[in-house]
This record gives sequence, C-alpha cells and structure tokens, in this order.
Amino acid sequence: MECIFCKIINKEASADIVYEDDKVIAFKDIKPKAPIHLLIVPKKHINSVNEINSEDKDLVGEIFLVAKKIAQDFGIKEIGYNLLINVGQGGGQEIPHLHIHLMGDKDKN
Ligand code: AMP
Ligand code: ZN
Repeated sequence: MECIFCKIINKEASADIVYEDDKVIAFKDIKPKAPIHLLIVPKKHINSVNEINSEDKDLVGEIFLVAKKIAQDFGIKEIGYNLLINVGQGGGQEIPHLHIHLMGDKDKN
C-alpha cells in the first residue's frame, strides 16, 4: 500500500501544502506540536535516514535548503526554530517516508 506522504505528493490525499517544487513538498503537520509545524518531504520515497544512499546527497541538501526558505517565508528564520528527524521505531518515526519536522513560534523571544 502506498504511504500517506506519497499519496499527498501524488495528490491522492489532501494536505495544506505550503511549498512545492519538482523534488520537494512541504505541508502543515495534521497534529501540530508548535504554532508553526511543517513537514518537509522529498518526493522520492525514502523510508528513513537509514535508507539514504550517496545518490540522494543532492536531494538531502535540497530538503534543508527548503527548510531554511520556509523558515524565512514564515518569519521565523532570524528568531530560530527546530528541525527534527525521527528515525525508525525507536526514534518515534510514525510515517516511513523521510521528512524533516520544522517547528517554530513567531512569538518566541
Ligand atoms: P514522524 O513521527 O516523524 O513519522 O512524524 C509523522 C508526522 O506526520 C506526525 O507529526 C503526524 O502528525 C504527521 N502526519 C500524519 N499524517 C499526516 C497527514 N495526512 N497530513 C499531515 N501530517 C500528517
Ligand atoms: Zn512515501
């Protein structure tokens, strides 16, 4: 069965998309744990950090560049924010499709 993030990427499931290009998509987390809680997701299905190969090096760089761009767009780049990647069951990863959590709060000081 196709994973939920692949379904969002293929527009078979809805999400509140905040950024999209040919390689990366970002959308709001359905259960936000911060005032700004976004997920940055490569369109290529990679299960987790453990399955990243050397051929994915550029793509992995891309998701961090998108994180920085979105932080700027949401007005939290200068204040600061959290990036989190859960890996595997022990790391609390629920969705087996690589993603970065971007969490922040505009009112944080
Ligand atoms: P992780 O535990 O790192 O795999 O995080 C998965 C995240 O995806 C959780 O914070 C969920 O709230 C979020 N999530 C699950 N399904 C959806 C969905 N359909 N749309 C947006 N976020 C989702
Ligand atoms: Zn997937």
